[in-house]
Amino acid sequence: MTTPVPAHEPHKAKTVRPIRFVSLDERKRNLTAAHFNVFNLTPQQISFDMVSYGAGAMSQEQLAGQLIGDEAYAGARNFENMSGAITRVLGHTYVCPTHNTLGSVKLLLHAFASSGQRLPSNARGRIDLHAPRGIELVDVRDHAEAVFTGNFDLAALEAAIGASRPPFVGAQAFADGQHPISLGNLRAARALADRHGLRLVLDVSRVVENAWYIQRFEPGMADRSIAELVKLTAKSAHVIMMDGAQDARANTGGFLATDNPADHERFINDIVVFEGLHTYGGMAGRTMEVIARGLDEMCDESTVQWAMAQTERFTARLREAGVPIERGCDGAYVQADRFLPQATQHPAHALACALYLSAGVRALVPGLVGRDHLLPLQIPRLAMSNRQLDQVADAVIALHAQRERIPALTLEMDGQWHDALRFGSVLADLAPFAFDCEPWLVHTLEPIAITTREQRERAIREAGWNTFLLRSADVTIDLLTDSGTTAMSSVQWAAYDAAVPTPATSSAYLEFAAAIRDTYGYQYVLPTHQGRAAEQILSEVMIRPGQIVPGNMYFTTTKVHQEYAGGVFADVIVDEAHDPTSTFRWKGNIDLAKLDALVREHGAAQIAYISFELSVNMAGGQPVSMDNLREVYAWSRQHGIAVMFDATRAVENAYLIQKHDLRYRSTHVKDILREIMLYGDGATVSGKKDYLINIGGLLTFKDNAAWAHAAEAKLRIYEGGVRDGGLPAADLAAMAQGVREMVDDRYIRARVEQAVRLAGWLKDAGVPVVEPTGSHAVFVDARRFLPHVDQDEYPAQRLAGEIYVETGVRPMERGNVSKGRDRDGNNYRPALELVRLTLSRRVYSDDHLRAVADGIIRLWQRRNQISGLRFVYEPRDLRFFQGRFEPLPAASVAQPAGVAATGQR
Ligand SMILES: *Cc1c(COP(=O)(O)O)cnc(C)c1O
Repeated sequence: MTTPVPAHEPHKAKTVRPIRFVSLDERKRNLTAAHFNVFNLTPQQISFDMVSYGAGAMSQEQLAGQLIGDEAYAGARNFENMSGAITRVLGHTYVCPTHNTLGSVKLLLHAFASSGQRLPSNARGRIDLHAPRGIELVDVRDHAEAVFTGNFDLAALEAAIGASRPPFVGAQAFADGQHPISLGNLRAARALADRHGLRLVLDVSRVVENAWYIQRFEPGMADRSIAELVKLTAKSAHVIMMDGAQDARANTGGFLATDNPADHERFINDIVVFEGLHTYGGMAGRTMEVIARGLDEMCDESTVQWAMAQTERFTARLREAGVPIERGCDGAYVQADRFLPQATQHPAHALACALYLSAGVRALVPGLVGRDHLLPLQIPRLAMSNRQLDQVADAVIALHAQRERIPALTLEMDGQWHDALRFGSVLADLAPFAFDCEPWLVHTLEPIAITTREQRERAIREAGWNTFLLRSADVTIDLLTDSGTTAMSSVQWAAYDAAVPTPATSSAYLEFAAAIRDTYGYQYVLPTHQGRAAEQILSEVMIRPGQIVPGNMYFTTTKVHQEYAGGVFADVIVDEAHDPTSTFRWKGNIDLAKLDALVREHGAAQIAYISFELSVNMAGGQPVSMDNLREVYAWSRQHGIAVMFDATRAVENAYLIQKHDLRYRSTHVKDILREIMLYGDGATVSGKKDYLINIGGLLTFKDNAAWAHAAEAKLRIYEGGVRDGGLPAADLAAMAQGVREMVDDRYIRARVEQAVRLAGWLKDAGVPVVEPTGSHAVFVDARRFLPHVDQDEYPAQRLAGEIYVETGVRPMERGNVSKGRDRDGNNYRPALELVRLTLSRRVYSDDHLRAVADGIIRLWQRRNQISGLRFVYEPRDLRFFQGRFEPLPAASVAQPAGVAATGQR
């Protein structure tokens, strides 16, 4: 049975690689400077670099392996690990490491071939490794075969062997990246080689893609796993060679392997001449470790199914739009001569230039001049989302629609290899393609749990129907919280790595302080380990016991610290914030009339400060308008009261102003944020949210030195050094870079719009969600979802558990359980009985979220079968963390769906 195509990636992003979107003007300049040969462009000049070789995403295990390279000259442990993996996965015992495929070919030819020989092969090789050594390739591919186009024409092979005794028979799994070979044909070629006393040498660099074709299209193979087929394929040959930068997802490296000790002996005798030593072969130890782990991972069934489904989707989209392409194992190979019949010379280069100019996408023209006119658009393995791939396809389709406007190139410098050519041209007048997708690629990935319903039913029972008590290992898509769950960027990691630790002033601190001053315009920068630590210090510095602290709804930790410092919290948020059905746009606003009333009652001196949260978390990520910010600040000036922001989600708020306030439509988020911060005197921040890091926080003041010095005194006692707040320099450095990345317009738009899309899919199916959609989460209204479940039977808690069982998605309850009981022991029964689906930053794709929506929609369709819960263990404080429940009997759910809420008892 073939594994079904997964609905989403079987992994999530662990680290991301930021994408630059270069302007049309820049692209024109870059292309001219590159002599109209896109080979000369660097990735920093490109939005999507459509190459698969060495450009894929590593797993976090591979990345970890990269850091434990045993760089011994002889007998490295990494070599032993790699050899073990090769034997386990590919079945061959004797391994000869090389620096890449070119190294392997060097050794092979030196061991077996001599000049003037002819080598029959099913591959032509875009890069001809053989001709320079005087060896001619003989094409013995079966050109009549429709599916396994890489199959040998066995009669032609027999004839070629008979005509001139070749050194060996060459074969490639997925020959030239385009032609899969069947297992049956490969075995027949092996038998033929055996009859003639020749070796069959197989290039297995793309063995996984080839195994997928065998599984799918070769009769009798559908029940075999990818792992089995990979091994059977590799075992069909006498000698295999592999490039580490293909299926094993390393960035370089390779090897030859065989079961014949005599052949191995010959390879390793030559290795010291050409490559290195027989236990490293011209590779760093870390590369061998990365390859070892990549080999163990590359046959993972759902990963292979996902990657191949991406390729199918990409090629289908292009083909259906009429773009002339050939199928590749790793993407679509555009037939440039059919795309651009007007370009008689070098159509692939002309097309590559036009694609870069119109969309910033690079497709590379590889190898030797004069072989064909194909322009490969390869997918970097596991690095791109379907949303991105669809848009790259759309960019090609848009170019196809205006192909008459693509000018021909004039050759200015000729050469044998495509990378050496130079051209002159006029800059085409093409309509540019605008991307609207996440501005990052997956750099490293983390596998996610793929579970069965049975496993999940057991897991939720064991967790007492409390999603906080689930093990991460049982969770497929984790939407519990966005706190500290960010995927850091490779740039942040580089800064993390480069930071020099010190208990005194680090340059990381200075970078961070500079980034905050630049972003907020605030003078005093006090790092803390988290937001709540900043809240504690701020509260102690600013609040005299008995003073009132007005705020726009409360946040749990903020309110606790205000109360610990002797303050009395007063909610002054607009009434609409408490109504889940109100569609008011600025539900985070402060109601000035409520503030006025407080001052009239208590006097301005009794107000400690205004606690002003941006993009109010507890209201569902609801924004404050710029007008409200301005008005509240003007009011506070009049009364001599300070405004202190909770700026944890200030960037999300700034984006919502850009989106919904017409006056700010063309203002950068960074400038909107800077204006927001004008209307306050200081801020606390949980860096675990906006700052794109996993730990960290901030207390900052605009210009009041007295407050800053009082806060510093407390920082030393509670947190750490005055310039680190208990954070290592490395985390400060990552945070400084995160502060720069967070105000990127494309990034924050991608983040917030993902929530909007998720909410839209749910709403379209009738699922009740809180409106308007907030900035960081989608809230499902459990009261309207399960109207037949009384609030004291905890509908949101039950719904959260059911969502987990149905989908493997972990949400969080925000309702009666979270709110707790009053003094008389009765549940508070709050107006909001919600299930929160919180989106981590840069971690999940649209396909993950589409699967979330589909699962919840299935539940919605059978909602009347869902009953409530009762406590079996109820802690006194913060019971939502540790409480345990059991489902009530299904008898209490006899009512049909759609019945009005049972209401208050
Ligand atoms: C998370 C959060 C906090 C608390 O920050 P921690 O870093 O978890 O201590 C404070 N305010 C808001 C709005 C938050 O979202």
